[in-house]
Amino acid sequence: MRIILLGPPGAGKGTQAGRLVERLAVPHLSTGDMLRAAVQAGTEIGKKAADIMTRGELVPDQLVVAVVIERVSQVDAQRGFVLDGFPRTIAQAEAFGDHLRDIGIGLDHVIELKVDEAVLLHRVMTRASEARKRDEAVRADDTKEALKVRLDTYNQQTAPLIGFYRLLKLLRTVDGLQPIDVVTKQLFEAMRLTAS
Ligand code: AMP
Repeated sequence: MRIILLGPPGAGKGTQAGRLVERLAVPHLSTGDMLRAAVQAGTEIGKKAADIMTRGELVPDQLVVAVVIERVSQVDAQRGFVLDGFPRTIAQAEAFGDHLRDIGIGLDHVIELKVDEAVLLHRVMTRASEARKRDEAVRADDTKEALKVRLDTYNQQTAPLIGFYRLLKLLRTVDGLQPIDVVTKQLFEAMRLTAS
């Protein structure tokens, strides 16, 4: 099954993607994780992405699309995947759609996790302070300033994807403010999957 999770930063995409991939036995493809790994490894892509990511802006479409197309071509993604954090622009969605059409496959579901913006700032700041307490590395973009940019970017560039996928009749919306287990249950229901 090929699934896209849409939603603003802090909506719980990563958590829910983790549960979906466990149930579906397909890889969790987080473009944020892939890019952070590239930054860490000091690759060419990582060097291009590092400062942009720290500011909370979007990495150029071409670069991210190339990373995702390469990743979904790998053997473990042939049974499907859960994409988390991609696409983030209409151009990315179109390029990815073209690629899937070229290889003769399509998406099964696009799920939007809807969350009130006022709650997001609190969630992301809590995530950062809890990581600090556990002596874990805090994401360079989990600052108030970068989060504001990330939210503005989401509203301007990513939110239009909701209408894009609704027109393609792929979109389902789940209220991401509910308890984590309830969100998971509704996500499975939206895809007509049982939780076990
Ligand atoms: P995330 O972990 O999904 O919040 O992504 C962290 C950062 O990685 C974003 O703020 C962007 O700078 C970059 N990024 C991740 N996915 C994409 C994407 N699909 N398009 C452009 N930039 C991305």
